Amino acid sequence: MDNPLFEMTGLPPFSRIRPEHVEPAVDQVLAECRAGIAELTGGSELPTWERFVEPLEELDDRLTRIWSPVGHLNAVMNSDELRQAYNACLPKLSAYGTEVGQNRALFEGYRAVAAEEHLDGAQRKLLENALRDFHLSGVDLPEGKKTRFKETSQELSQLMSRYEENLLDATNAWSKLVTDEQALAGLPESAKALARQAAEQRGETGLVLTLDFPSYLPVMTYADDPELRREVYEAYSTRASDQGPHAGQWDNTEVMERILALRHELARLLGLGSYAERSLVTKMARTPDEVMHFLNDLAERSVSQARRELAELTEFARDRHQLDELAPWDVAYYSEKLREHRYSITQEELRPYFPLPRVLAGMFSVVERLFELRIQEVQGVDAWHADVRFFEIRDVAGELRGQFYLDPFARAKKRGGAWMDTCTNRLHTARCDQIPVAYLVCNFGPPVGDKPSLLTHDEVETLFHEFGHGLHHMLTKVDYPAVAGINGVPWDAVELPSQFLENWCWERAPLDLISGHVDSGEPMPEALYERMRAAKNFQSAMQMVRQLEFAIFDFRLHREYDPERGGRIYEILGEVRDQVAVIKPPGFNRFAHGFSHIFAGGYAAGYYSYKWAEILSADAFSLFEERGVFDLAAGRSFRENILEKGGSAEAMDLYVAFRGREPTVDALLRQTGIAA
Ligand SMILES: [Zn+2]
Repeated sequence: MDNPLFEMTGLPPFSRIRPEHVEPAVDQVLAECRAGIAELTGGSELPTWERFVEPLEELDDRLTRIWSPVGHLNAVMNSDELRQAYNACLPKLSAYGTEVGQNRALFEGYRAVAAEEHLDGAQRKLLENALRDFHLSGVDLPEGKKTRFKETSQELSQLMSRYEENLLDATNAWSKLVTDEQALAGLPESAKALARQAAEQRGETGLVLTLDFPSYLPVMTYADDPELRREVYEAYSTRASDQGPHAGQWDNTEVMERILALRHELARLLGLGSYAERSLVTKMARTPDEVMHFLNDLAERSVSQARRELAELTEFARDRHQLDELAPWDVAYYSEKLREHRYSITQEELRPYFPLPRVLAGMFSVVERLFELRIQEVQGVDAWHADVRFFEIRDVAGELRGQFYLDPFARAKKRGGAWMDTCTNRLHTARCDQIPVAYLVCNFGPPVGDKPSLLTHDEVETLFHEFGHGLHHMLTKVDYPAVAGINGVPWDAVELPSQFLENWCWERAPLDLISGHVDSGEPMPEALYERMRAAKNFQSAMQMVRQLEFAIFDFRLHREYDPERGGRIYEILGEVRDQVAVIKPPGFNRFAHGFSHIFAGGYAAGYYSYKWAEILSADAFSLFEERGVFDLAAGRSFRENILEKGGSAEAMDLYVAFRGREPTVDALLRQTGIAA
């Protein structure tokens, strides 16, 4: 069969890729990879960088080039046939991944190359990462420990799925049929429409509330009836626990204890003191002390303002709404009322100032000035949909640095949200010379009639965010995919370029480049701009302490685990709440039983990453606050030290090279309006 997925010379021939091409291509490329690895590890010659690592990088790149367009099409042009083909490949790819991770001969090969003398920094980092990951998958453990490591890992992954299943079942088990629409007074029309649709799907007449987030959140934010909010709050905050309407069914209590015990055991098998240490092996933060120190520091400096914000809210609820005491299920509701009262700003009001063509052209000129680039559209590139556009990025010397597809609009069969993903990586060896290509995907409202698509400011921010990831991927100068662009960048550092770039859609000068009224072209009035800026930091300290509560809880839980004493889950949570929380939840609250980020997802002892990334991006931006948002030297330093270097060196070293010092929390506190 003539399979377009094997056309490796240019961009993927998207319009010719069919579901029936997928499985044969994946089967074949996996067979090639296996054969390649066998050949590279089977010879008698001593492995070297050129003979061993480069060919492995090339094999891996071949797999990326086949799988990337498939995964991408599955996300943006889904069909039953494609999904079937895609799903059929997933177990094959994951089996291959496990096999490679457990391949002792590969591990030995990397170790031999690591002993070579004439390696540059990127090469050393790649080898270090590879050896680290082999170690973390237990490859170099002695036989007895290896078996136990495998058993523990398997049981852990089963329990993590059980936790998620319990949570899902408990979430789905609760619903509330409302026949009198008056009972939902306050809810926006969109939330009521969702509730009506949920009722229809269940064959009921009326409106159905559920514990899915799109249903839960509007109730807590807008429902006028406090009794309804209390009922929904209780059902939500007791899911999969020993409390609430389904107490004891799908109870995660024991699953959580066991997960913590197994994680601790895994860490100990690897010779580490705790799972918190295990988590940091692959992150930018260096020690548990460093993480706790920065979280505690932020907490100490935010908590008094958070108390003041709560006092303001309490006062507002009392004076304007005659409410004597603010219950946990009242906070979001009255906060929204206070926000409307103070700023009366809606995203809809901002839309006319952000026509997509203006935003795009403006964002490109911002980035061109900041990083000394030229961005140009290229016509006639084969794509998956008529809306898709294609661009190339050149530097001032005219060198082609990267290319990207932009798929801006929502449509049927396209996954929601916005993201940046890899089409091809930069790869530069004796045999290959390939530049990075990215997908930028958004879900903006399409143009209506002769009006262009109009964005909310949130959407503009999202576009900047994803373009920041894109620049990290595309501006890399690292030759080996494993550490080029965003690859090999630690999780707690990978959001730096994206959150960093968001700052430019909040500053007046760049904002004037990206905005202009759709009819008149007029710039955004100063008063509107001021309101938009002010609303940004509404209750920022309350939000800060809430995120800190989660992060400190997660980190302490994994750091302080002691087999003798067990997880002490709610004991630790109670202590953390005494330290940072301004709103004390009721006794029935079982937050941890539904905290799937850390119990079922990948955030165990890693939830702090959200704040860490904010610290980095705020601190990075503070250099531009000092010198001007278009300061050329600062822009060049960010490009050369962060964007071009990708994962080729320690993230902290790169950061210090850019900023001249390690990051501090001051800029984040200042920029979010927390007086510290
Ligand atoms: Zn991101």
